[in-house]
Amino acid sequence: MRPRRRTRKLVKWGGAVLLLLTAAAWIVSMFGGLYISTYPRKKVGWSLGISAARGAIAVSLVRAVPRPTEIIWDPFQVGFYSIWKVDWRVDVNLKYARVPLWMPGLFFAAASGIAWRLDIRDHRRGHHCPSCSYDRSGLAPAAPCPECGKSPA
Ligand SMILES: [Zn+2]
Repeated sequence: MRPRRRTRKLVKWGGAVLLLLTAAAWIVSMFGGLYISTYPRKKVGWSLGISAARGAIAVSLVRAVPRPTEIIWDPFQVGFYSIWKVDWRVDVNLKYARVPLWMPGLFFAAASGIAWRLDIRDHRRGHHCPSCSYDRSGLAPAAPCPECGKSPA
C-alpha cells in the first residue's frame, strides 16, 4: 500500500471512530457533567479545570487556594438540553473557554467523509469500469467492459 493511501485509510477510519466517540461523549454529557480540577500545591495559584457537560467541553483557569485534585461526576437533575455555541471569558482571575462537541464532530465527519469519497473514486478508477462500476479485475487493461461494452479511457 502506498503511503498516501495508508494516510487516507487512517483518516477515513480514525475520523469515523473519533466521530462515534464524540457522539457518545455528547450523549453521556446530557445526563451529567464530568469535572476534573487540579489545584495549586502550596499557595494561592491557578486551578486548571476540564469539564464535559451539556454537549460541550470546557477548559478553565481560576485563581484558587491549594487543594487536592478533584474528579467529579455530577448527574443533572433538570432537563435534557445541549449547549451549541462557543463561549469564552478572559478576566484577571478567570480564563475560560467552552467548545460545543458538534464542532470537533463536524470536523471528524468532514475529514472521514472526504477520505471515504477519494477512496471510492480511486476504487472506481482502479479495478472498476468507470461507466458502470463492473469489477474489471482479471481483464486485460484495454479490453472492453463485459457488462456495458465500453472501452476503458
Ligand atoms: Zn461497464
